[in-house]
Amino acid sequence: SERLAGGFRRTSDKLGENLSGLFGKAALDADTLDQIEEALIASDLGPATAAKIRERLEGERFALGLSELRLREIVAEEVEKILAPVAKPLEIEAFPRPQVILVIGVNGSGKTTTIAKLAHLLKEQDYEVMLVAGDTFRAAAIGQLKTWAERIGVPIISGAEGADAAGLVFEGVKQGTARGTDVLIVDTAGRLQNKAGLMDELAKIRRVLGRLNPAAPHDVVLVLDATTGQNALSQIDIFGKEAGVTGLVMTKLDGTARGGVLAAAAERFGMPIHAIGVGESIDDLRPFDPRELARAIAG
Ligand code: GDP
Repeated sequence: SERLAGGFRRTSDKLGENLSGLFGKAALDADTLDQIEEALIASDLGPATAAKIRERLEGERFALGLSELRLREIVAEEVEKILAPVAKPLEIEAFPRPQVILVIGVNGSGKTTTIAKLAHLLKEQDYEVMLVAGDTFRAAAIGQLKTWAERIGVPIISGAEGADAAGLVFEGVKQGTARGTDVLIVDTAGRLQNKAGLMDELAKIRRVLGRLNPAAPHDVVLVLDATTGQNALSQIDIFGKEAGVTGLVMTKLDGTARGGVLAAAAERFGMPIHAIGVGESIDDLRPFDPRELARAIAG
């Protein structure tokens, strides 16, 4: 896609910028290798990936000097190796229905938009989708999700600001079961800063869900804003295990030079990446394609 290519072009431009002046050297001495490794890390690729690329360069002979093309090939190969094992589309396979997907993410990460995009995608694939406006702390979040639900044409369970999220989730599963809903997508509070509060709320939602269906929630998707770089990585670190996150969606990869964050996340956490956001409109959720992304990152 144009947008994706545009976003990653910035990532690869950044890599090119960081590497300019290093090409054409016949001997890759330790200094040059250090500089390349630093440039790769500055492009958000993560230390382990950068070290692997360095190792490969050490093992190669460059009669005519290292070319930019060869380096980009090696970067693409190594990044693809890191990304391939974590590329896992969200699968709708739960029986009994509905499959319950909790979506968590700090305010501003693109959580609401991602829920809308996902609901739209699943609806296009003929799944019956229902939303639960569980981010009851922000009246704006409730309103925004209701507007999306109307536009997409899916039902939504919502309450007033301050309503009990677990109660709404209970209602969602009850109504969803009665209506033959395939997928229930639950928005949750975005106050990731207030860790204790968030964990309490998630625990309560889990208790309520567990009573209705021991397998629920089937998925806990963490939405991350790629433009926040290292900050996105620390959110995986802080919330990944404790919130029982089962997979990631990385947003805003259209406007950022931060494509390398995907490789760093894969390398550090090995957590499934379900999809990426490449724009603000409803069609801008893309499957995570490791080869395409690795090539785009490498330029
Ligand atoms: P929430 O607070 O986490 O629910 O975030 P929102 O879904 O309201 O998104 C915050 C802002 O980011 C909005 O202006 C969205 O349109 C925008 N946004 C969300 N996803 C993307 C994306 O993939 N690319 C771009 N460029 N903007 C996005």
